[in-house]
Amino acid sequence: PKARVVVVGGGYGGAIAAKYLKLAEPDLRVTLIERNPVYVSCPLSNEVLSGERDIDSLTFDYRGLSRRGIAVMGDEIVEIDPEQRFVRGAGGARYNYDKLILSPGVAFDFAAIDGMSAALADSTIPHAWKAGPQTLLLRRQLEAMPDGGVCAIVAPPNPFRCPPGPYERAAQIALYFSHHKPKSKVMIYDAKDAFSKQGLFQAGWKEHYGDMVEWVPAAGGGSIEAIDPDTMTLTGLVEDFRADVINLIPHQRAAQLAVDNGLTDASGWCPVDQQTFASTLQPDIHVIGDAAIAGAMPKSGYSANSQGKVCAMAVAAAINGESPPAPSYVNTCYSILAPGHGISVAGVYELKDGEIVSVPGAGGLSSPDADARTRAVEVQFALDWYRNITADMFT
Ligand code: FAD
Repeated sequence: PKARVVVVGGGYGGAIAAKYLKLAEPDLRVTLIERNPVYVSCPLSNEVLSGERDIDSLTFDYRGLSRRGIAVMGDEIVEIDPEQRFVRGAGGARYNYDKLILSPGVAFDFAAIDGMSAALADSTIPHAWKAGPQTLLLRRQLEAMPDGGVCAIVAPPNPFRCPPGPYERAAQIALYFSHHKPKSKVMIYDAKDAFSKQGLFQAGWKEHYGDMVEWVPAAGGGSIEAIDPDTMTLTGLVEDFRADVINLIPHQRAAQLAVDNGLTDASGWCPVDQQTFASTLQPDIHVIGDAAIAGAMPKSGYSANSQGKVCAMAVAAAINGESPPAPSYVNTCYSILAPGHGISVAGVYELKDGEIVSVPGAGGLSSPDADARTRAVEVQFALDWYRNITADMFT
C-alpha cells in the first residue's frame, strides 16, 4: 500500500509541507487537516489596522491544494495516538498515518497577565495576533477612538511569533492616526529591553510620526503585570497606564494540540531534530513552524515555509529508506513603516552540530543610511514577497 502522510495545520508551514511532499512523491497519500475553511494571513495584516488594506486580500482557500491531489479535510484534531499512529478529529473521525507533520502555530498564555482571558481578547482587548475577527475588532476600536486618545500595544517576551510585528503595528496605527487623529498617541509597553530592527524602527517612527509613537522598555517600567478592562488600565511594575484602545499581545507557547500530546518541553515549545524536524519526544511526528524550536531561526511565516520544505524532503527520504538531504534554510522579515518606507532583516541558516545557526556574512539588516528610493524598493519587495509566498502555499 502507498504510504500515508497526514499534515495538521494549513498555514505558512503546513500548506507548504503538504504541497512539496506531493511534488516530491506523487504516489504518496497526503492529507492536510485544517480546522478553518479559509486561511487569513498574518503577514500584511497590520495594514488592515491602518486602513491601507482589505482583509479579503489576506484570505485564501484550499482549492489549489485539492487540485494537486492532496486530500484537504476540514476538521479540528483533538487527539494524537503516536503508538497506533492516528489522529482523531473533533467529530470522532480517525485519520491513520505513517508519518505525521504538525504546523499548528502558537497558543496564548493569557494567565501570564492578571485579569486577561481568551474571552476578553474576543470581546474588548483584541490581540489580533491571529489574523481574522480580532484584526477587524481592533480596527473598529481605532476608528471609534476620539482624537487625542491613546492606543497601547503590550508587547510580549521572547520568543514569540513575528519579532518585528508589534513595532510594525505601532507604525501602521500611527499612519492611520496621522491622517485622521493627529493628536493621538501609540504607546508600546514592552516586556523586553530590546527588539528586532530596533534602530531602524525608532528612526522610521521619528521620521514619519514625530513623537506620536513611544516605546517603554521593561527597564523603564514597560513590563505589564495586570489589566483592568473596566477602567482600561494596565498595571506596570512602577506605575499604571490608562489607554483608550488596548492591544495586548499575550505571552506565547506552542499550540494546544502540541501541549496536550506530549510534544512540548518545559519551555512550552516543541524540541525537534533540527535537520528533519522529527520530534525528539514522540516517534514518527514532525513539528515545523512557530511551534518548533528551530535554533537561530525566528518564528516567522518565511521560516515556516523554509522548514516545511526541509521537513517534506526529510519525510520523503525516510519513507524511501534513505538518509535526509543536507538542509539549507532562509528567512526574510519585511516591515512597512509608512507608504514608501520598508525595512527588512534577512538570514541564511545551516546545520552545525545538530543546531540551526546563521551562516556568517549572509543576510543582515537594511542600511540605516538607505535613501528614500531604497526604502521604497523595500516596500515593493515586501509586496512581491507576499504575492510569491502565498502563491507558493495555495496554488
Ligand atoms: P499558522 O500559519 O498559524 O498555521 C497554523 C494552522 O494550524 C492554522 O490555520 C490553524 O487553524 C491550524 N490548526 C491549529 N491547531 C489545529 C488543530 N488542532 N486542528 C486543525 N487545525 C489546526 N511572518 C513573516 O514571515 N513575514 C511577515 O511579514 C509577518 N508578519 C506578521 C504580522 C503579524 C501581525 C503577525 C501576528 C505575524 C506575522 N508573521 C510574519 C508571522 C507568521 O504569521 C507566522 O510565523 C506563521 O503564520 C507561522 O506559520 P505556522 O504554520 O507555524 O502557523
